[in-house]
Amino acid sequence: MFFSRKVRTSVYLILDALLVMTGAMLIVLAYWEVQHAPVMTARHSADVVFEATYPSLPNTKFKVDSVTGNLEDAFLDNVYIGKRSFEESEYGSGVLFYSPMARFIQHSSQKNENRDNAFQHFQSGETEPLKRKTKYDNNNVFAFYGPVYAISDCSDCAKLGVPDYKHGDLIGVHEVIYPVSNEFADLARKLLYALLVKIAVLALTGFILFPMIRKNESDRKVFAKRAESAEKQAVTDSLTRLPNRRYFEESLRGYLQEFGKLDQKVGLMILDLDHFKSVNDNFGHDAGDMVLREVAMRLSGVSRDHDVVARLGGEEFAIITPFVNENSLLDIAERYRKNIESLQIDVGAAILRPTVSIGVAVSRPEIDDQKLFQEADRKLYQAKNAGRNQVAA
Ligand code: GH3
Ligand code: MG
Ligand code: MG
Repeated sequence: MFFSRKVRTSVYLILDALLVMTGAMLIVLAYWEVQHAPVMTARHSADVVFEATYPSLPNTKFKVDSVTGNLEDAFLDNVYIGKRSFEESEYGSGVLFYSPMARFIQHSSQKNENRDNAFQHFQSGETEPLKRKTKYDNNNVFAFYGPVYAISDCSDCAKLGVPDYKHGDLIGVHEVIYPVSNEFADLARKLLYALLVKIAVLALTGFILFPMIRKNESDRKVFAKRAESAEKQAVTDSLTRLPNRRYFEESLRGYLQEFGKLDQKVGLMILDLDHFKSVNDNFGHDAGDMVLREVAMRLSGVSRDHDVVARLGGEEFAIITPFVNENSLLDIAERYRKNIESLQIDVGAAILRPTVSIGVAVSRPEIDDQKLFQEADRKLYQAKNAGRNQVAA
């Protein structure tokens, strides 16, 4: 890899952040779209309905017969045809006539603030239709208003006791209401909410969980490695790197069990360096250590595949060697002895030629590991007494 772990992790985090930010931006854009699309649609629909129900002849606008007080037929047709088809398709929509004047109360829809405001707006002389987003019963709607004028003077106003008006006077407003659909927006809002949650989860996993998991994993690896090496250390002799006494004892027990089951014999040799104390005394402790290491290396160097070569402590070693009988074990022990005898170890002040005494014993069903060890140890004592540098069986 070209980049260090740290750099790679940073790059991943930056990519994570970009991804999350892009996601969040898309959500915001989508949310804006969801908010506005129904509004645009409603506005457009209101416009279409308004155009369809509002006369387009310049300056004529709607006309109401001031004598009968009736709206002109064309207007009624337009309004009611428009209103019917319109109302069937869209709940909450409407095409209405509103007038606050007593003369037209029978034709007028109910008074409300929007309608009154529109009426006042046209009263001030405005003629252009009013188009605005507002609320009806707490629902968002588009409300479009146009002015409605009288086509004749009021002839019987005085008789009826209602305010007077003349041809061309403003007498009411035409209103088209078109609701802003909530259903689509609600659904989309829910989807967006779900997406937002997902983004949050992504951010959480990207920035918190993944690094935590990664760290955990690497911690675990470190611990496992440490445990493994600690375990190895516990059964390894630090000077010679050979298995130690603990390992030896466990192996001997295990070998006796396993090879006993197969009716195979296990040989045990205990080796002790001869006059080793004099090495320390004459050449120093370091020279002694060097001899111990060289001997250990030679012993494991010439050992067979299944042999266990261990340092029992001090200048004492043991070798467990399976698949033997009394004779072959003697041969093997002799081979080890000769191998040590042939060593020439340069400790600076002199070239040392160590020798070992070896006691051997072969497993039998009636004796356990401790008995076997004692037997080999006794033989070692015999070898020492008989003059050292020899094998006793
Ligand atoms: P023998 O032939 O009867 O075995 O005589 P020996 O001198 O080998 O036996 P003895 O038990 O008298 O001396 C063993 C010496 O081994 C004593 C001790 O200082 C030395 N020794 C034990 N462990 C170490 C070690 O790790 N390093 C060194 N340099 N010497 C050690
Ligand atoms: Mg000794
Ligand atoms: Mg010794």
